[in-house]
Amino acid sequence: MAVPLPLEGTFHYRVPTSLADQLQPGVRVLVPFGRRTLTAYTLGSSRPPEGQPLKDILAVLDDGPLLTEAELAFFRWVADYYLHPLGEVLKTALPTGINLQSKKGADAETITGGRRVLRQRIAAATGQLPSRPLRGKAAELLAFLNAAGETSSAELRARFGECSPHLRRLAELGLVCMEQREVYRNPFSGDQVERDQPKPLMPHQQTALQAILAAADNGHFTPFLLHGITGSGKTEVYLQAIAHCRVQGKGALVLVPEIALTPQLVRRFRARFGDGIAVLHSALSDGERYDEWRRIRRGEAPIVIGARSAIFAPLERIGIIVVDEEHEASFKQSDGLRYNARDLALVRGRDEAAVVVLGSATPLVTTMQAVREGRLSLLELPERVAGRPLPEIMPITTRLTSDEPLSAPLLAELATNLERGEQSLLFLNRRGFATWLSCPACGATLTCPNCSVSLTYHRSRGESRCHYCDYTVPAPGTCPACGEPELKELGVGTERIEAELRARFPAARIARMDSDTTAGKDGHSRILSRVARGEVDILVGTQMIAKGHDFPGVTLVGVLQAEGSLYLPDFRAAERTFQVLSQVIGRAGRGELPGRVLLQTANPEQYAVAKALTHDFAGFCGEELAFRQELGYPPFGFLAALQFSSIAEGTAQEGAAQAGRLLTQLKARLGLRLEILGPAPAPLYRLRGRFRHQILLKAAKRADLRRLLAAYRSRRSPCPQLREALDIDPVDLL
Ligand code: ADP
Ligand code: ZN
Repeated sequence: MAVPLPLEGTFHYRVPTSLADQLQPGVRVLVPFGRRTLTAYTLGSSRPPEGQPLKDILAVLDDGPLLTEAELAFFRWVADYYLHPLGEVLKTALPTGINLQSKKGADAETITGGRRVLRQRIAAATGQLPSRPLRGKAAELLAFLNAAGETSSAELRARFGECSPHLRRLAELGLVCMEQREVYRNPFSGDQVERDQPKPLMPHQQTALQAILAAADNGHFTPFLLHGITGSGKTEVYLQAIAHCRVQGKGALVLVPEIALTPQLVRRFRARFGDGIAVLHSALSDGERYDEWRRIRRGEAPIVIGARSAIFAPLERIGIIVVDEEHEASFKQSDGLRYNARDLALVRGRDEAAVVVLGSATPLVTTMQAVREGRLSLLELPERVAGRPLPEIMPITTRLTSDEPLSAPLLAELATNLERGEQSLLFLNRRGFATWLSCPACGATLTCPNCSVSLTYHRSRGESRCHYCDYTVPAPGTCPACGEPELKELGVGTERIEAELRARFPAARIARMDSDTTAGKDGHSRILSRVARGEVDILVGTQMIAKGHDFPGVTLVGVLQAEGSLYLPDFRAAERTFQVLSQVIGRAGRGELPGRVLLQTANPEQYAVAKALTHDFAGFCGEELAFRQELGYPPFGFLAALQFSSIAEGTAQEGAAQAGRLLTQLKARLGLRLEILGPAPAPLYRLRGRFRHQILLKAAKRADLRRLLAAYRSRRSPCPQLREALDIDPVDLL
């Protein structure tokens, strides 16, 4: 058995004869665990260790296995690779609705979300109208039902308020019928999509597709990198490759960085394949997620699109796994089981003998190294569809500390675009109004009491807010240090840019897209569809606007502070900067009209900026790989991070120091070749009230890392005040 607790190893239980025929690998059971009763996952039967009294399984919770043998094998691999307890891996992999924690007693049969969901469905029927005409709410209800067709009682309530007495009367008259039915909560409800047909492919697309189809027909694990500049038609290649796998009766798993940001992509899949698509993402309720999971398990949704957790989807007979925007950091989970879905796609693809397609305009340099070493086959789409040229880019050198966030040439271009009635996009990777407030008298800045960062000033809400923990104070306010009443606004955020634009172009229709304006489930699609319908002249936003959106009407892109993310203390800072700049630049000129880009930067010579300016991916890769090789960073070395945090500063520091000493001893004793960097305070030293230290392990051989960590874990005793986390292949080092 595996239990969903942060404990090493698996556990043995005795099977009472009454339960023997219900038990099989992959079903959940209730077991006594210490003084608690827990849900555990059955892994299989094996000989228990000698001399240990066994407890009985209390109940079997599922009629059939929730997991297949193949999935179990995959989850075991994950647990082993990330050095994480198998029970916690299973808990992460299964939908939240399904895990019942430590319920008391064996009668805990009501599985959250496992209940059948009954919904009242209501529709108009052809009864006789009464002699007296209907009036009031009853008439409105009937008119609505006649027009809208079958409707749920929840929706009627939302529209008409309490209406059950009226409905009952209408039902008695035979004018409506009401029915209880099990329904899947449909995350697409109310959004119709017109079907479309596969497009005739461009020559490069055709070559790429042929290679993928040949591999799919082969039936061996074959990994590809589909490197195609933005707008080169990668998605069309995915769609046609998936269609081919469907004809073979196989399923497809499509991983995207963040579904909420890519409603267009989901619509394109629905347009091509109709129903039979399951969508998994973070905005789903637990119930919706569980519904989707069951549809996939039953084989009703052979195409699964989702954010990183979709890598665990219960899809069988997988023909192809697509990882779109494979370079995105969001494929890595940053707490609990710190898996990377992009990496696991290759593992699951290998297990399933599937084709794996990693797609990106700016692949990771580690991926490019895998291509160089022959571990991935390269497919290239070097041209935009319909020969649309890449936009022309004009660098504008600005001072880092400029008070004028919008340069004169950029303002002139914006004015021209407005006159021509064309759309513009402005990118600044910082939300809020001012970046921070500072006291002109004593120089103090407003900082978060829980995190080591300054608070961001949001003028429209009249507050200063911490972007990590949401700590908020009224703003502008007085200086907390000296009481000076007038604080000065420093730095620039998207909110301030929006305000400046409104002042300069009062007639323009301006919208802002950042995490402040996109709250709620449809926040992103609302703004994106306004842009798509041409109802926005200028869209200002953070990196959210850089992601795969296809805005054919955008002809001008302005980049403010191109070097925004360059100075973070992270060896991937240059790579991230290059990626985000290339993505933003790629938003221009995707339609009939050519695009142009104005890029304001203080460092036009820095290689990440300079190579993005010239669309020179190969050049960037060369420089970046040389830098990585020199310092032994991935792909030329392997990393693991140990993170220590505590609300007590001393505990965090002492815990990290102890761990550091133990690691150093073990390394010497085992004669391993690796570097132990730290312990050191994390760059973000305080986060949500916790003090943080970390140790980074760097080795040329993965085996050395694993041996050290295995030895370390077997000797390490947990301390309740200290939180310790292990991150294999860490992505976030802040
Ligand atoms: P990418 O995913 O590489 O950014 P897309 O697949 O979104 O590129 O393609 C960009 C645009 O070109 C989309 O509007 C898409 O519908 C269109 N497109 C893609 N392939 C073709 C094709 N073979 N013929 C015509 N239009 C195409
Ligand atoms: Zn904070």
